[in-house]
Amino acid sequence: MAETLTERYRRLRPGSWARWQRACRVIPGGITHDSRHLTPFPLYVSRAAGPRKWDVDGHEYIDYWMGHGALFLGHAHPTLVEAVTAQVARGTHYGACHELEVEWAEWICRLIPSAELVRFTMSGTEATHLALRLARAATGRPKVVKFTGHFHGWHDGVSTGVNPPYELPMSAGIPGAVLGEVLVSPANDLAAIDRLLGSRQDVAAVILEPSGAQAGTDPVDTAFLKELRQLTTDRKVVLIFDEVITGFRYAPGGAQEYYGITPDLTTLAKIVAGGLPGAAVCGRRDLVGLMAFGPDAKWNRSQRVAQNGTYNSNPLVAAAGIAMLSQIADGKLHERANALGAELRTGLNEVFRKAGVPCVAYGDVSICHIGLEGPPAAGKPKNAELYHKWRCALILNGVDMSAHHGWVSAIHTEREIEETVAAVGRAVADLQADHAL
Ligand code: PMP
Repeated sequence: MAETLTERYRRLRPGSWARWQRACRVIPGGITHDSRHLTPFPLYVSRAAGPRKWDVDGHEYIDYWMGHGALFLGHAHPTLVEAVTAQVARGTHYGACHELEVEWAEWICRLIPSAELVRFTMSGTEATHLALRLARAATGRPKVVKFTGHFHGWHDGVSTGVNPPYELPMSAGIPGAVLGEVLVSPANDLAAIDRLLGSRQDVAAVILEPSGAQAGTDPVDTAFLKELRQLTTDRKVVLIFDEVITGFRYAPGGAQEYYGITPDLTTLAKIVAGGLPGAAVCGRRDLVGLMAFGPDAKWNRSQRVAQNGTYNSNPLVAAAGIAMLSQIADGKLHERANALGAELRTGLNEVFRKAGVPCVAYGDVSICHIGLEGPPAAGKPKNAELYHKWRCALILNGVDMSAHHGWVSAIHTEREIEETVAAVGRAVADLQADHAL
């Protein structure tokens, strides 16, 4: 009997297996992010440089995880290493204001069209949490609207309507009262959101991924965004673009620059902090300005929007953020990354076509989405077993990317794309031999 994909994966990665066994004793399921769940066990990586990384068993990979989309300049880019190394020696936390956070905020205001004021958080999850708090405080209304499939982090207030068929929240342990404050509208359905906003007076905000759900896996069209902008303006509902993924990737000014549509508030993470843990909320002065202390103590106590956070805009992250944003501001690196993204999508589709499998590669700019069962079918759960096998097959052939998408960085080269296309050809053959495709 020929060895199955899973058996080969187990045989060739004993180091990862051993570490995962050890991890399972102290970490639930052995993993620290749900997306690392992989059957039969996840990969343990020991080092990374540029577009590549190496696992604990010595295998080399072309990397398309790119720090979950944060590493637009690849791993350990010299400019970032230099900025972070210099700052770590000067201190990582002053417990005080510092000039780097001002410079970092100035970069964001220069690049992001909606940014008049900026407040920093540590993660995209915290950023969407704060943006919703700002919208509720500004409007005095309790409800927020999100769209099916759109992901805004893992806090209770956005954990509904994420995973198809959307009948359950994303997690156990979320109070019904919190879920009740979130109204879920079908993605890309203008009539439905128009009806919803027209039927009630208690909506503070509409939040969405401007790429469409899951980084554009279920794409949105520009007309929808335009109309939504108009609808929310007419009804004085705060429009929040969650640009955790698209910010600084779709264009230096994010999806709002790319589509020419300006939201009221924007959430940013990933690229904004140069691959270190940092994020931000930015937007209209009258909204973000609700966080500023004023002269009236009563207003400060009852009306002001509060936020703490030990690590907000700490100097180390700010240094990395500045190093990143100053390098990508002119958009030249985007042209490069986008061209490589297109090349990757074309190359993979050619592989799929030649192999006669239903898979597709698609997406905008430097993002490559993978639909193994065909073009995206919004609201339809994916075949998890097939996607796990696909990831194992990619790993066995020297490519590591999320089962659903890959992020091309500005430091990938044609060589990586060519090698990836060849590797995917081998992976597809492996899946066919395994009767998975
Ligand atoms: N919003 C979007 C659109 C995201 O893709 C993510 C994470 N991938 C988040 C929010 C949450 O960000 P974080 O993982 O930094 O909490």
